[in-house]
Amino acid sequence: MSIIITGGSRGLGRAIALRLADFNEPIVITYRSGAEQAAATLKELEEKGVPCLAVQADAADETACAEVVRQAETLSPVRVLVNNAGITRDGLAMRMKEADFTQVIDTNLVGPFLMSKAVLPGMAKNRNGSIINITSVAGLYGNAGQANYSASKAGLVGLTKTLAKEMGGRNIRVNAVAPGFIETDMTENLPEKIKKEAQAKISLRRFGQPEDVAGVVKFLASDDAQYITGQVIEVGGGLTL
Ligand code: NAP
Repeated sequence: MSIIITGGSRGLGRAIALRLADFNEPIVITYRSGAEQAAATLKELEEKGVPCLAVQADAADETACAEVVRQAETLSPVRVLVNNAGITRDGLAMRMKEADFTQVIDTNLVGPFLMSKAVLPGMAKNRNGSIINITSVAGLYGNAGQANYSASKAGLVGLTKTLAKEMGGRNIRVNAVAPGFIETDMTENLPEKIKKEAQAKISLRRFGQPEDVAGVVKFLASDDAQYITGQVIEVGGGLTL
């Protein structure tokens, strides 16, 4: 059986790919433009002895998503899909350009829908599948300056729960992970003031590491989670308490 991780070239996606390598199943990662970083992830996966492939595919392009799944299925039927690729285009809603709103929705919400649609027939045939969507605490509680991002991530929660209801009868589980502040390129450029304020609100008093999220994704992809579906697990160090 194989595993697909969208946006596996860097950040959370890379850490998730490396952790899921523990399953010893072929791994396919996707990326949009970072070919060098994707190659670096592949090298690390190869060092772990896992068959792997990187496919350049825009998450919001239906043809590209179908091609990713086709390539994964040539390795082995797909057992796990991690919808991780995501972007931000922050700004206050009253000044936000429509293009910045729709681009975020396309990548963060339409993308996971298209990837899920492409893997579901194979998973249904095998009566075995686990889809894990990387949402965000912003999708659960909102976040000033992120109307587009929060809406996309809230939509992803709705997609998760609905697919869990639709596909449970075929033994396909669909769950979501909602990280708080994790140290990646996405959070690196946040203003120092925002970082300090966030840190003060986090019970564990530190930003998370990509590995903190990867372990939870591995759990959801494993048999230990075989009776868990339609759930959202926050990985935020107590940010939202
Ligand atoms: P990141 O470091 O910016 O990495 C994003 C990844 O997604 C890269 O591999 C990128 O590939 C890929 N990607 C972006 N747009 C794409 C597209 N249109 N098609 C295909 N791949 C695309 O981000 P991250 O922090 O690891 O975030 C990963 C996920 O976690 C996202 O969904 C994000 O919303 C979510 N999240 C992150 C945090 C956090 O604090 N970091 C918190 C909550 C949720 P390229 O390099 O080729 O562009």
